[in-house]
Amino acid sequence: MRIAWTWYLLLFAATPIMAAEHGDAAGHEEHGAHVHGEAQLTLATDGGLLEIMLESPAANLLGFEQKPATAAQQGAWQQQQALLKSGQWLQLPVAAKCVLQQQQLNEPWAKGGQHADISISLRYQCNAAELLNEVKVILFTTAADLQQIDVQWVSGGQQGAATLNAKQPVLQLPGTE
Ligand SMILES: [Zn+2]
Repeated sequence: MRIAWTWYLLLFAATPIMAAEHGDAAGHEEHGAHVHGEAQLTLATDGGLLEIMLESPAANLLGFEQKPATAAQQGAWQQQQALLKSGQWLQLPVAAKCVLQQQQLNEPWAKGGQHADISISLRYQCNAAELLNEVKVILFTTAADLQQIDVQWVSGGQQGAATLNAKQPVLQLPGTE
């Protein structure tokens, strides 16, 4: 009886702590690594389909991270949204004949908090995907403070990782030929 009561107390006391830790971990996972200056990009090809997702602290792209408050900040955010959705922050080989078909941009300030992440997904259909042997990221010149992009890719039956920066903005892919 005494032992059971002790266990009850332990469980009761431990539950809120465990719940809080779990919540923290889940939140962290959801946002990915939020390090200012760094962004993550995943790229996958499947037949003629090309999918690219970029996740970045808002500060990297906008120079600020709170919800746009002034007209200037609102303008900067509008401009950045247009750029991200257009896919013009990427350069794909013309010969691969990739056409942007879908784009999805998140609402960075939906969750509140001090930090915000911008997440953009692009889906292309490439008519000559075998010629998709590189992807150049031309975001470094326009972004407010983007130092490096960590890339994970799956393409042509292979996978790999790469780090891109202003000096080395080109991701090499195996292609399929
Ligand atoms: Zn931040």
